Amino acid sequence: MSRKCLFCPNPVDSAEHLWSDWILEDLKPVEPIHIKFGKTFAKWVDDPEVRIKCVCQKCNNGWMSAIESENKPHMLAMLNDKPTVLLPTQQKLLTRWAVLKSMILDGSSPQRRPIPFYTECERTGMKPPSRSLPVNTLTWIGRLEVKAFHAGLTNTFGGINGIPKAFQGCVVTIIVGHLVIQVLTMHVLPMFATNRIRPVDKPGAWNVDLLEIWPVFGEKCWPPKVSFVLKGSTPHHIAHLINRWKIGEDITK
Ligand SMILES: [Zn+2]
Repeated sequence: MSRKCLFCPNPVDSAEHLWSDWILEDLKPVEPIHIKFGKTFAKWVDDPEVRIKCVCQKCNNGWMSAIESENKPHMLAMLNDKPTVLLPTQQKLLTRWAVLKSMILDGSSPQRRPIPFYTECERTGMKPPSRSLPVNTLTWIGRLEVKAFHAGLTNTFGGINGIPKAFQGCVVTIIVGHLVIQVLTMHVLPMFATNRIRPVDKPGAWNVDLLEIWPVFGEKCWPPKVSFVLKGSTPHHIAHLINRWKIGEDITK
């Protein structure tokens, strides 16, 4: 039986690179980073040339390709370590790119994740004309001292107002070149549906390591004050970012 595209009713009819050509071109000489905490990763990609079989050609060559080209100028700059001012519109575009990749990582292997975290409604909402982002989504960017590649997804959960496990979340951390992006989307209990959730993360130097780009609040100057590093015992180690959120069980099983 042919599978349905993650974003529309068409059958899956293409195996596309997860990363677009302009990113692959730039990442060719780069080594992937292997950082793992036990069996914590629900989804893990260590090959930049990984192909995905979860979308149709129409989506891939249409609105998904538009998200790529809209983000190319500022992403290429940051990927190559050029200081970049991000206007609110660019922060929204970059969040759309990162959420799209999160949805693909989340939905691209039905054997491992039979039911994706992102709902069909959240996925189809990404397309024009609505171009909406899932509610309760937070996005941050940072800088890694060297050029690298990483893409990993973990599940998380947390309490709200003393109610344990009031939200389930999906965390995706992506490193392309010097650019680090982390997206957290939360599904909350209906009683908290109208709250804006600020979940509690593990201690870290997040205020100097990261810039919050979603929700948007003014323009942001990348890079942040302090960069993530790959070596040494320091709060700025990239492993702390990947391990920033409490690891939850895979709720999709
Ligand atoms: Zn489609």
